Amino acid sequence: LPSPELRLAIVGDPVSHSLSPAMHEAALHECGLSGSYKRVRTKPRQLAGMLDQLRRKGYDGFNVTIPHKESILPMLPTIDEPAQRIRAVNTVRLTDAGYRGYNTDSSGFERVIEALDHKSGPALILGAGGAARACIDVLMRSGWSVTIANRGSERLRSLPANTASMDLSDLRALQQAVNIADLVVNATPVGLNHLEESPLPDRIVFGRDAVVMDLVYVPLETRLLADAARAGCRVIDGLALLAAQAADSFEIWTDKRLPDEFFRQAAVEGELLTRARTFQYGQFGMPAGEEVI
Ligand code: NAP
Repeated sequence: LPSPELRLAIVGDPVSHSLSPAMHEAALHECGLSGSYKRVRTKPRQLAGMLDQLRRKGYDGFNVTIPHKESILPMLPTIDEPAQRIRAVNTVRLTDAGYRGYNTDSSGFERVIEALDHKSGPALILGAGGAARACIDVLMRSGWSVTIANRGSERLRSLPANTASMDLSDLRALQQAVNIADLVVNATPVGLNHLEESPLPDRIVFGRDAVVMDLVYVPLETRLLADAARAGCRVIDGLALLAAQAADSFEIWTDKRLPDEFFRQAAVEGELLTRARTFQYGQFGMPAGEEVI
């Protein structure tokens, strides 16, 4: 019998510019699997209904993105341990017991970190949302001492007890944390689509040889990474995590493992194709990026 079609999707809002369809469709093709990966734009009030609909239509799994990574938790019958700890799900697979939630931002980040020369030390995380919580969880478990700098104080209240935290506007404390950090990670959206914006205020300077990682990948070289590279730091762009989390999600759905580099390349090619289409049709005349399931 021919293998059944795998039905995959990304559920979120916005999803029209997601690179996940390009990565996962290339991976399906590479593994000789037939299937599809659709963009499913879903507003918060539509989420529960959308999960039912995906199940009725035989979807095998999907990615979850902004704004549902946290609010989906109570809607899933089972959730694996890291995702429960982090309180965020970015990958869902259909099992005999219904949908099961996972967090591959966490497993992907773990692999990116394992490839570093520094195995532990002081780390500074900018932001305290879902992505930051995945990074913090991984770093704490591998022995890093973590400081979190966030704009607001609300999210700082529910972070792990043995982390230090500060306000992003406390320039003195921020500069001190940057001075001693072996690793700085931007887990805020600042810099996304804005070449001139950095999550670090202008007066903050990279004084030593840290590794600086951005989770934002549009543009690929953000202002933060450009500043860090100029100061002599090693930089890791947002495609590193995008590719790593995609490789882990794909394995959860298919039991097939492809290298992170495969997903990175597919994302780059997907982005080039999107730009070519935008050039051809104009930003607003572009064929709809969202699909009906
Ligand atoms: P989230 O849960 O909404 O958290 C956003 C965080 O950024 C919060 O701590 C928020 O601070 C802070 N923030 C938002 N706007 C800010 C601003 N203008 N100035 C300073 N801080 C600001 O979002 P998330 O899911 O963690 O995602 C964060 C970023 O990481 C997004 O850009 C996302 O696309 C990216 N990401 C990338 C990957 C990847 O694969 N490369 C994976 C996951 C996420 P407040 O508490 O003050 O609101």
